[in-house]
Amino acid sequence: MEIKVKNAAHKSDGKNAQVDYYNLCPKCGNFSHIKEHHIYCSLCGTKLIKECPKCNTNIENPTAQFCVMCGERIIDLSDNKNEK
Ligand SMILES: [Zn+2]
Ligand SMILES: [Zn+2]
Repeated sequence: MEIKVKNAAHKSDGKNAQVDYYNLCPKCGNFSHIKEHHIYCSLCGTKLIKECPKCNTNIENPTAQFCVMCGERIIDLSDNKNEK
């Protein structure tokens, strides 16, 4: 399995080093209990994402279900429901 770690995801161009992306769970959509340094979802154990898996755009909206740049689905809530 290829593990892509991108630690320098925040753009600090001498400006304020503010985090401009969210860590969120692609399975259950959880983000409110997740800290920036977390790796796995505390609710379902899924590995968190903070950027689009397709085009690597940072996820700036924690409630977004699709990537705003390429349209890739980043949170698959419907699939979660259909499993049962
Ligand atoms: Zn989750
Ligand atoms: Zn994308």
